[in-house]
Amino acid sequence: MKRTRPVIAIDGPVGAGKSTVARELARALGFTYLNTGAMYRAVAVALRDAGVKADAPGVEKRVESVLQSVHVEIDGERITLNGRDISNIISDPEVSDLASRFSALAPVRARMRELQRAAGEKGGVVMEGRDIGTAVFPDAEFKFYLDAQVEVRAERRWAELRKKGVAADRGEVLSQLIERDRRDTARELAPLRRADDAIVIDTTGLSITEVVEELRTRVRSRSAV
Ligand code: C5P
Repeated sequence: MKRTRPVIAIDGPVGAGKSTVARELARALGFTYLNTGAMYRAVAVALRDAGVKADAPGVEKRVESVLQSVHVEIDGERITLNGRDISNIISDPEVSDLASRFSALAPVRARMRELQRAAGEKGGVVMEGRDIGTAVFPDAEFKFYLDAQVEVRAERRWAELRKKGVAADRGEVLSQLIERDRRDTARELAPLRRADDAIVIDTTGLSITEVVEELRTRVRSRSAV
């Protein structure tokens, strides 16, 4: 389907600045912003609450059945799971860990991809995650891959958690981040990787405003938004 407005895909590892940048860019362009990580987190909460263990034998069948009654809604910063507001628990390190375990499972990825495609098919959307430019919208008009030095990413993640009132140890944040990136990169289905045609931006020494400006300039140079 030909879109009248573009899909902007932003992928990258933990702490690369994707969420803030994607939100700000969407605001600047008047686009919808979709944080796909929040969707995986919400599903992880649903599966955890249903007693599902990601590494149990035959887990796919259980996951498929739980997914049938999972309804996630994202409205700005507010995330509801079957009508229950879970906004304040989805950033918990336990949920981050579970999200990256459950996200490796085929039924979870298939369902998320379907919902994300439906949300973005008309364009006018900034979608961020791990596989947006490679698997969800391989035909996205714009693909960005944000990255930064690992220590800087861990520091950002730590500060983000503190801001949300989650007490965390810096060293632990770093090791959890390394482990989550490893899992997201190593999984078989839609692993985290840069799309061949993605523009890579190293955000290490850049402010949010500078990154947003860089992306905006690149989008405006090729599109009438
Ligand atoms: O972006 P965020 O850190 O909130 O994502 C949580 C987890 O969800 C990631 O570690 C990854 O396992 C999974 N995820 C994914 N594909 C996406 C977005 C997130 O597999 N597009």
